[in-house]
Amino acid sequence: MSASTLWKDLLHRYPPMTIEFFINSTIQLVCFWLVSAIYIFLPYFTPAFSARHKLQKQEKQPTAAEIWECFLVVFRNQVLSSSAQLGMILLDAKPPPHRFDVILPGPAEIARGAILCVFLREIIFYYVHRLLHQPFLYPTVHKPHHRFTAPVALAAQYATVTEHILANILPLALPPQILKCHAITSWVFLAFSLLETTTVHSGYDFFSGSARMHDLHHEKFVVCFGTVGLMDWLHKTGGKSVEDRRLQAKIQ
Ligand SMILES: [Zn+2]
Ligand SMILES: [Zn+2]
Repeated sequence: MSASTLWKDLLHRYPPMTIEFFINSTIQLVCFWLVSAIYIFLPYFTPAFSARHKLQKQEKQPTAAEIWECFLVVFRNQVLSSSAQLGMILLDAKPPPHRFDVILPGPAEIARGAILCVFLREIIFYYVHRLLHQPFLYPTVHKPHHRFTAPVALAAQYATVTEHILANILPLALPPQILKCHAITSWVFLAFSLLETTTVHSGYDFFSGSARMHDLHHEKFVVCFGTVGLMDWLHKTGGKSVEDRRLQAKIQ
């Protein structure tokens, strides 16, 4: 059965919101939970390899009890967001958040849409994240996420409910809706974003050290608020820019 026939068959059998719920849940399960589990169990199965690739020292890593507590908070957040989505299905909420056109998008359309979504996510997440660091919000809303100064993959969604909605759900949900992407493009973007967020919180130097920036944010708090570095470059809040400014201040 071709992808196009399979898609038509799915659309014929189920309402878009139901398809959306099941595919979103599968992506969360594979790209967030399974990948987080692999990163978290790495030190137990391959301690020497894991220690060689960790960005921060062993003594700063969270204990098994802290990781368990992290799991419970993340699980609660996922249950809440899945329940909200299920509620929308039961209430027969319309319209579906993305285009469910019968004709599937081609690779070029998917790639273009996903790249634009990453760009929009960078802008939304950066400003939401800067807002969460303001004194009137930080202690009650964002401080718990900073509990792990040496983060692990699961800590990506270790957040208060308010932060989970503002910083974890909105920057992923809004871009495909604003750009009116096909549902397939939105799932590619979601899968990429979850793989990226687990990797940048993993504390490992894999994928050319892509975790370094966000790891530095967890360690120093006042640098690297974005996801891909673009907005940090624009606002001079990247790790290097802040370091340069401090050096400059010392010299003067
Ligand atoms: Zn922060
Ligand atoms: Zn984080």
